[in-house]
Amino acid sequence: MGDVALSFDNGPDPAVTPIVLDVLARRGVKASFFVLGKNLASPERLKLTERAAAEGHRIGNHSYTHRIPLGDDPKTDAVDSEIAKSEQLIGALAETPKLFRPFGGGGKIGPHLLSRAALDHLVANRYTCVLWNCVPEDWIDQDAWVDRALRDASTRPHTLVVMHDILPRAMSHLDRFISALAGAGHRITLEYPAECIPIERGEIVRDISGFVSSPSAAGD
Ligand SMILES: [Zn+2]
Repeated sequence: MGDVALSFDNGPDPAVTPIVLDVLARRGVKASFFVLGKNLASPERLKLTERAAAEGHRIGNHSYTHRIPLGDDPKTDAVDSEIAKSEQLIGALAETPKLFRPFGGGGKIGPHLLSRAALDHLVANRYTCVLWNCVPEDWIDQDAWVDRALRDASTRPHTLVVMHDILPRAMSHLDRFISALAGAGHRITLEYPAECIPIERGEIVRDISGFVSSPSAAGD
């Protein structure tokens, strides 16, 4: 048994996010939502993130378009068009410190996560960068992800699970997942494992070299 933090990426989604919020409320569980700026451009979806913040969940930035991991993105204005533009839409709903989760492309961790410019931006703007240590691939098998996540949670003291509040079928298992976590004696927490936080309030607190592309690969 250990600590487990829940996170939901790529939303908000008008069909799925309300269901996720209802389950979390019923279970008395707080979680983190790493939202996409392009979704918040819709007032209807922005309301869902406002609801999540009002209900005590943490709101973080997960880029604007979620198209190309920042370390692979050749665009010189990617920091502005992906991080800053999204942060502007999150506005007052942002956590203090501001949270940024890079897009991994299938949950992979590696130097494609950040460009040097993105790293500099996160440091200069005092972001906390939130990675993950459990990707049960709820988008690949929308049923079996629960067992994979439970297995991961049983193997380490502090697990940060990535789920997606855009997948109706996968999220139909959320209540059962939370119940199974509790049944296994895990404690659900808003706190993140230290190993998942390479940058804290703009301070680089862990070896970041494995998460940042080399300048030539980033095209600058
Ligand atoms: Zn994502």
